[in-house]
Amino acid sequence: MDNFKKLGISNAILKSIDEHGFENPSEIQEKSIPLILNGEDVIAGSATGSGKTLAFASGIIQNSDRGYGIQALILTPTRELAEQVANSFKKFSRYDPLKVVSIYGGVGINPQIKGLKTAEVVVGTPGRLLDHISRNTIRLNNVKTLVLDEADHMFDMGFIKDVEKIIQKCPENRQTLLFSATITKEVVRLSRKYMVDPVEVAVESYIDPKKLNQVVYKVQDDMKLFLLVHLLKNETTNLGMVFCNTKRNTDKVAKNLRNSGVNAIAIHGGLTQNKRNNIMELFHSKKVSVLVCTDVAGRGLDIKDVSHVYNYEIPRESKQYIHRIGRTARAGSNGKAINILSPKDHDNYMSVLRDNDVAIKELTLPAMERMKKPERALEKPVNRMNTPPRKGRQNQRQNYNHR
Ligand code: AMP
Repeated sequence: MDNFKKLGISNAILKSIDEHGFENPSEIQEKSIPLILNGEDVIAGSATGSGKTLAFASGIIQNSDRGYGIQALILTPTRELAEQVANSFKKFSRYDPLKVVSIYGGVGINPQIKGLKTAEVVVGTPGRLLDHISRNTIRLNNVKTLVLDEADHMFDMGFIKDVEKIIQKCPENRQTLLFSATITKEVVRLSRKYMVDPVEVAVESYIDPKKLNQVVYKVQDDMKLFLLVHLLKNETTNLGMVFCNTKRNTDKVAKNLRNSGVNAIAIHGGLTQNKRNNIMELFHSKKVSVLVCTDVAGRGLDIKDVSHVYNYEIPRESKQYIHRIGRTARAGSNGKAINILSPKDHDNYMSVLRDNDVAIKELTLPAMERMKKPERALEKPVNRMNTPPRKGRQNQRQNYNHR
């Protein structure tokens, strides 16, 4: 606890840190908290999993004036991250309370309008925040601290213009904190335009490579599901996340897993927000042990006890690989990332190896039980009438002989 105290954190926050059982500050906390408490603008190169929420929360909890309207605005790329940050905030500010409200689309606006009347900290996604700005249901003129959380992801998702519009609605005389896994050109441009003498802090890596075991199995496409079921049943000790590249495939894989006796559920952007929240709750509370998700739904989420991440399909964008595997081996625990590779994934896998500094060990296939044939159609439906005969399957088999 002394190491947290040295950073200048108040007793009220120290008490909640103690309740969380955190023993020592994480690297990003150590480097950024003194600057944040001192009111500096900070650019922090770190992703979820690094402990960044406590870093900006401690500054906001200590520096906000209670009863003077919205003191802090935190922008997040996804609704789930907004919920997560708001919940962490409530916990960290338990002994020095602030009224925290989360604002995002896909749910009713009226409860948000009501909440905004007394809010002191607002955590939200850009679209719905702009909606409130245009309806005049949010007053940002007292904002002292603006946080751009996962800025790179926000820009990847095309929110840059919205983010700029929101920044311009905040008072010029404010503190701006920017958190981003990668410091992209956009991040630099934005920081030059809207931040004052920002101090840059970076942490080495948010994944502890020693604690993350990365492996790959090479299989034929029709063996993927058998292997996934086998691994989920035989080696996933805690929660597992299975990544697919499309909404359609997440639904299909989750259904096939359930048919094979695995307690799995799919989450993706095609579901209503209430449904997504309910699914996350089931997973957090371990009522469901396997979450099958797309990148958008899975990114940035902090879920404790994820012991295994499966790439059922290798991501099309190689940097997504890092985000995916970052869901495990978090905050000091061990994790395993398992890639299930079929010939179709080959090109994506090559890009992952080329673009990232990762060590992935190839394993031989375990002996597997044959199961009920899974539902087919993991690909887009094709017009069979016009489809030429499939070529090249034999050749592919030669490269991915599984037995
Ligand atoms: P964040 O990057 O803020 O999403 O935090 C990632 C996870 O690390 C959360 O579950 C936090 O509760 C946890 N965490 C934050 N700071 C610490 C710390 N100093 N020691 C251990 N766990 C931490």
